[in-house]
Amino acid sequence: MDTESVDAAEAEFEETAPVCNLCGGTEFKPFKDRPGERCVSCKSLIRHRIAFEVYGRSGMFASRRSPPYGLRVLHFAPEQKLHAKIRRGVGAGYFCADAVPEAYRWAQCLKLFLPGDLMMFPEGYFDFVIHNHVMEHIPGTYRDHIPAFCRILKPGGKLIFSTPGPDMNALTEEGGEHFATDAERKAKFGQYNHLKKFGRDLPEFLNGLEGGTFAWDSLTTADRAKLGARPGSNRFMIWEKSRDVAAEPAGVPATADAAGAAREISAHTEAGIRRLKPR
Ligand SMILES: [Zn+2]
Repeated sequence: MDTESVDAAEAEFEETAPVCNLCGGTEFKPFKDRPGERCVSCKSLIRHRIAFEVYGRSGMFASRRSPPYGLRVLHFAPEQKLHAKIRRGVGAGYFCADAVPEAYRWAQCLKLFLPGDLMMFPEGYFDFVIHNHVMEHIPGTYRDHIPAFCRILKPGGKLIFSTPGPDMNALTEEGGEHFATDAERKAKFGQYNHLKKFGRDLPEFLNGLEGGTFAWDSLTTADRAKLGARPGSNRFMIWEKSRDVAAEPAGVPATADAAGAAREISAHTEAGIRRLKPR
């Protein structure tokens, strides 16, 4: 954006009275020094509100019938502010997962370590794979993780996620799992448990990935302002698998190709998982 349009977008943001799309609330408070971040009535943060809007627009709540007739959604690190809403919108095909399910007592989470444990699912199993600020916690390289998510998408299925940034003026830096201390991770990546910091190569990688198409979310500056988000902030990345990709025949056992697929995960990622996995 040029300076003039940045100014116009900022003015639009200042003039808009935000409304919470999760509860209808109109009162917002600062959170971690970020003004207007937290909805006073449902406590949601901007990224929850943006996520819900993006998920809705993507067609995730189009059907509440059970699989195989309804949609199947896999949600990592299911945020409390979103979980009940998504469960209501999706129905029986809504699955949650995390490496630490105990931290998500409101959801019945599968215990999964990423990306290795994704191999338990057959190719083409989910209509949606969603996560919000999860990628920066996964050891290894996103160049392994993204294809692992994409593998389990059905033809026409969508991977929808956000990360801190990405900083379009920088390149991704990874490897925090190999640092000796939390302090080192905090200094380098901004938070004690962040293992990487994303740059412009992340959307470029998605854009170059075969078998699908990449797009940023479709929210306009006005849409973002309505949810309390500054112009260009809290952007979601969406990768949609082509509909003409041949799907695995139905009924393939979940672990059928696990050995072969697991071999494709790089040694670097495997080493990272071993280091972080509780024993
Ligand atoms: Zn609210």
